[in-house]
Amino acid sequence: MPPTEEKGLIKINSARCEGECAVASRLRDFPNELAKVVKLLKPERGREGSRRYQALRHIKRKPKAGVSEGQCRNFGDAVFVILAPSDTFILTTNQRDHEQLAKVLGKKVTTPQALDET
Ligand SMILES: [Zn+2]
Repeated sequence: MPPTEEKGLIKINSARCEGECAVASRLRDFPNELAKVVKLLKPERGREGSRRYQALRHIKRKPKAGVSEGQCRNFGDAVFVILAPSDTFILTTNQRDHEQLAKVLGKKVTTPQALDET
């Protein structure tokens, strides 16, 4: 069911990842960025790493493989950072989590608070 508008707000009726994962397919359009983020998130030897790392590594290593709904959800913040155009600021209230990822891709992060101060 597609999103609808209700009292001026957009209501997402289904946030489930069904069929082919559109997010994964979009991320695969950016193989260089994907590789850099996977490298950054790579855990130390012998450790499993985060769910985000595992999900991103999965789509990097197996371009044709399916993606589970859990893996889709685990892409998390990496989606915004990879898809953000490089000449823009990524606006987030969670600067700390985004900054490291953004930096490795040469992108900039700012907060609503910082914008108010300028
Ligand atoms: Zn998906």
